[in-house]
Amino acid sequence: MAYDDDNVFARILRGEIPCKKVYEDDYALAFHDINPLAPVHVLVIPKGRYVSMVDFHRNASDAEIAGLFRAVGRVAEKLGLNESGYRILANNGRDANQEVPHLHIHIFGGAPLGRMLKKIER
Ligand code: 5GP
Repeated sequence: MAYDDDNVFARILRGEIPCKKVYEDDYALAFHDINPLAPVHVLVIPKGRYVSMVDFHRNASDAEIAGLFRAVGRVAEKLGLNESGYRILANNGRDANQEVPHLHIHIFGGAPLGRMLKKIER
């Protein structure tokens, strides 16, 4: 799937759409989700043009991969979640219901989050 430069997160990265920024460095931007599903719900996105994990693991540099995941840890720490705990999640493609075609890591926290996932039967 080709990268769409008009996707909403590309527009946030360009400053065309506002966001409630939590953290930024050379590799990543983190901001509050517009429709939070937990008391804390933040998205961490790479600055590079990557559609999904498939695209990212194939095409991103080691520095970009390390930079994104270090940013996730820094954001959780900045949000004060280290002690209480948190969940990270990245939806990838159709079965995961990925809505925005720019890789993003969700960070959920601020309350007990329950089990990892409702069990799915085929
Ligand atoms: P996905 O289902 O792709 O993993 O999650 C996309 C997430 O992006 C959703 O949780 C949705 O609420 C969030 N989102 C969509 N549009 C915007 C926006 O314009 N600003 C922010 N901050 N979040 C958005």
